Amino acid sequence: MKSYRKELWFNVPTRRAFINITRDVQTCLRESGVQEGLVLVNAMHITASVFINDDESGLHQDYEDWLEELAPHAPVSQYRHNRTGEDNGDAHLKRQIMGREVVVAITGGKLDFGPWEQIFYGEFDGGRRKRVLVKIIGE
Ligand code: ZN
Repeated sequence: MKSYRKELWFNVPTRRAFINITRDVQTCLRESGVQEGLVLVNAMHITASVFINDDESGLHQDYEDWLEELAPHAPVSQYRHNRTGEDNGDAHLKRQIMGREVVVAITGGKLDFGPWEQIFYGEFDGGRRKRVLVKIIGE
């Protein structure tokens, strides 16, 4: 069995963003040489997500509005978590809803996606270096 590990690094200048990382994962898959197996892609921070959905700007704006409605960033005093001196209480909640990781099947050396599926990095507390783990196993 082959095993491959790589970290993708991000430094998003804005507090929140959605970044399509499908090509980066495809590059990892090529480097791994795996033809049949699984790829795990997970955010290594508790204020960021990895998720699969459509690369459609209206949907991404809908996510942004929906998440801000559920867990508005301000006022930061509304979150008990921020009593630690942090201001990212909302980002922890947004990450929980959007998820930590995705697993995609690898078939014939390709990501075995359904229609329109793309992999995204969701940033909810940007402005610093953060990373995503890509782990591939198979043969
Ligand atoms: Zn925090």
